Amino acid sequence: MSIEARKYGAVNLAQGMPDFPAPEAIKEAACRAIRDDINQYAITWGSANLREAIADHAAWHLGMQVDPEQEITVTCGSTEAMIVALLSLVNPGDEVILTQPYYENYWPDCIIAGAEPRFVPIRPPHWSFDFDELAAAFNDRTKAIVLCNPNNPTGTVFSREELEHVARLCREWDVIAITDEIYEHILYDGRRHCCIAALDGMRERSVTVSGMSKTFGVTGWRVGTIIAPPRMTWAFRQMHDFISIGAAAPLQEAGAVAYRLPRSYFEGLSSAYQARRDRFCAPLLEIGFDFEPPQGAYYVMADFSSFVGDRPDDESFARHLVREVGVATVPGSSFFRDKELGRHLIRFCFCKQDETLDAAIARLRTLRALV
Ligand code: PLP
Repeated sequence: MSIEARKYGAVNLAQGMPDFPAPEAIKEAACRAIRDDINQYAITWGSANLREAIADHAAWHLGMQVDPEQEITVTCGSTEAMIVALLSLVNPGDEVILTQPYYENYWPDCIIAGAEPRFVPIRPPHWSFDFDELAAAFNDRTKAIVLCNPNNPTGTVFSREELEHVARLCREWDVIAITDEIYEHILYDGRRHCCIAALDGMRERSVTVSGMSKTFGVTGWRVGTIIAPPRMTWAFRQMHDFISIGAAAPLQEAGAVAYRLPRSYFEGLSSAYQARRDRFCAPLLEIGFDFEPPQGAYYVMADFSSFVGDRPDDESFARHLVREVGVATVPGSSFFRDKELGRHLIRFCFCKQDETLDAAIARLRTLRALV
């Protein structure tokens, strides 16, 4: 869709990448690192300076004391972190539970790792799971559950009660919780992030995946993180070494500055994104899309049925939006294995400057029913 957006001069609300600058302090730190000739391979599992900064950040933000020597791996984005975790943990034929809709990479990650994905639906309007349905997905072959919290694409933030339920099942079935917490600092309306690894009895069976992309608005830097117990970290570091050797050394030094930014930076992130959410979602509802405003992350999964009647086709609708209306989105079925479940949905992202969001809204106001 990003390619289509360029081709048709559309406002790109498809891929989750900010169009505003990253913090000056971290850009300066990256330039300084290059000028200081930090231009060779860092130690494969991440520079000591960055790992210490990640541990300091985990202490105040996640409430966890993490040993940077034994429990942290730095990867090329959280994308590499997730595949490293799955390749290291999964044996062929193991089952991995995914909530559906899911972030697009998880299903291929499972397939590459030789896992059999088992889907548990999360349903609108709240995009939460049914406790019994989730429990029914666990069995003797379940190796792990992958949970994205705050959630892309739905914008849900799983409650502590929901996470406790997942944790209980993981302990009961001896299952590993792999959580993608890349939106850990983007939560709305006073919500606080809860890391499953910090729940009772979960530390030894949790893998916490995150990274710099969203928290610092640097999706192109490709710096990701894994926090996991030493035994797993030992395996992850080897897998990561064979896959990529390491993340960009000067950007890791900038990462050390980033994770040590004052807390006001992190608090400001949620409020800035909440303002963008409100600016974008109110007119979007008015225009005729149907959804509940997201609780976290920076996406809206919107039902567009009111424009097309009872035979929705997300791909045609997204094509119409990008070509005729001038706004790029992601067809909802991309987030489902059962494609039909996403045929009436499209995903907008709103990690954009006010002008970009306003331009998208102005174009969407020209949208008319297609039936
Ligand atoms: N995980 C989720 C849920 C995402 O939404 C994204 C990017 O949109 C990623 C991972 C990719 O993150 P990274 O840039 O750290 O590889």
